[in-house]
Amino acid sequence: MSNSFPRNLIDGYIKYLKKGYVRYKETQEHLAVYGQKPDVMVISCCDSRVTPEGVFAAGPGELFVMRNVANLVPPYESTEGQHGTSAAIEYAVRALKVKHIVVMGHAKCGGVQAFRENANARTIDGDFIGRWIKLLEPAAIAMACMPVDKIDDPQLAMEYAGVRQSLKNLRTFPFVEEAIVGEELSLHGAWFDIGSGELRVMEPESEVFETAPSAAFMEI
Ligand SMILES: [Zn+2]
Repeated sequence: MSNSFPRNLIDGYIKYLKKGYVRYKETQEHLAVYGQKPDVMVISCCDSRVTPEGVFAAGPGELFVMRNVANLVPPYESTEGQHGTSAAIEYAVRALKVKHIVVMGHAKCGGVQAFRENANARTIDGDFIGRWIKLLEPAAIAMACMPVDKIDDPQLAMEYAGVRQSLKNLRTFPFVEEAIVGEELSLHGAWFDIGSGELRVMEPESEVFETAPSAAFMEI
């Protein structure tokens, strides 16, 4: 096993210097001096196939991104512990004052799949993942009680339910609720299909996921 820095990352960095940095040079210099002021926070999965900056074609300074296993938001807790996701949410809402938080689920989510496959046995190996994806339990219960989606795909239904639960949990953060009531913040659900590139957006009232408008693209 080589200890050298991954070669493909160096190659990628060289490409970035030639293209990405050149393209955003002025933006990055401005951001370095004046700081970041993104309007949107995206909470997405760690999955390497789901990149918020890629899906939304966003450059530096545009998205405040938090990625974790299965794009989950835990409920507000004041217990001791390293609440990494909650810290990012707090910073986004209280310091950056983002106007939108988007929770973006995705197809073929391994975290959701692990939860489904171990729903009864809780036999997931490892010290952390099992406990983390237990956050999906209320989502599974909510889904069983009130099946919003008339779909036969249990994996997809659980991916949707996970997004809905995370949106619900976001509202347990007092500063999030306060910002929503003050009309300074809105929450959104989305789901990305890795294979087709389709983005679905959750309609806030019905909580149904619909394909995002792409007519403009289709006309090009
Ligand atoms: Zn995932």
